[in-house]
Amino acid sequence: MAHAEPLARLNVLCGVDEAWCAAMKDAVRSRLSIDATVKRRSTGEILDQVRSEKADPQTDVWWGGTGDAQLQAASEGLLQAYQPPSTAVMLPWADNFFDLSGGRSAGIYAGALGFAYNTELLKQKGLKAPACWKDLLDGTYADAIELADPNSSGTAYTALATLVQLFGEDEAFKFLSRLGANISSYPQSGSAPVKDAAHGDTLIGISFIHDAVTLRQAGYPLEIVAPCEGTGYEIGAVSIVKGAKNLDAARAFVSFALSAEGQATGAAAGQNQVPSNAGASLPPGAPDISMIRMVDYDFATFGSADERRRLLRRFDNEIRGIP
Ligand code: PLP
Repeated sequence: MAHAEPLARLNVLCGVDEAWCAAMKDAVRSRLSIDATVKRRSTGEILDQVRSEKADPQTDVWWGGTGDAQLQAASEGLLQAYQPPSTAVMLPWADNFFDLSGGRSAGIYAGALGFAYNTELLKQKGLKAPACWKDLLDGTYADAIELADPNSSGTAYTALATLVQLFGEDEAFKFLSRLGANISSYPQSGSAPVKDAAHGDTLIGISFIHDAVTLRQAGYPLEIVAPCEGTGYEIGAVSIVKGAKNLDAARAFVSFALSAEGQATGAAAGQNQVPSNAGASLPPGAPDISMIRMVDYDFATFGSADERRRLLRRFDNEIRGIP
């Protein structure tokens, strides 16, 4: 009897939804004969882990989660340059992101930030529906809003950077401070606020719009809001860790993640991000980001290590009261 080739090993830290992490693990096993260990972590936690393993990397690939933290990792020398295959035809925003990272991180999807509220709870409480960021300051939403902790969550860091770009830094911090009166908790994961809103555990969750679409498609009573003042967006990314021990498998994984077929694993797992490969089809429920009023998001500034660190420190000091 012929022996099957042994599977290549690969260690992946995954920043997207658990369902997509699991689907990608299955896809690379069947398509690339890679036996990947895929662990889901929030974006900031992956950055901390990759940094702490610098002397002896245990992670080969960082796949998914907001790209700002991968830009920071690239600038800290934690990522390995990678040349995508010529067949990976990327949309212009992904090309720009790749250049910005010095060829160390590639955009795999985009998604707009917003918030979603539980329509049944809103009705029960007899409250007005919010349509704008500034509506979230209304006293009737006391203890009824969740925003994740931007130290761990790329979603929440995108919210912080978005508000700074929309209102200016000092006004954004005044806004966040007043918003704090309505925030019931700052969970670790960026998906938690909208999942809690879906389950009726909170009224409003600040989240990526595509995440809320996935939950609404699953039947949860959510209304999704693209805030009237405008909003920001993420570029989700994939990178190879410098010193990766399974480099060939890491390169094969990244090529697959950039291919139209690899990106289709997202829609197949119920996800609704906009794929970066020009040949990948848009998930049917993906929000039309061209219809959303969007800030000209400055990835160079808000993905820079110094700026990210400084804003997070200010958030901890002024909003969370952490010295
Ligand atoms: N879930 C989805 C669907 C996302 O698009 C992203 C960001 O890329 C995340 C989660 C990121 O998670 P976190 O905010 O916990 O870092």
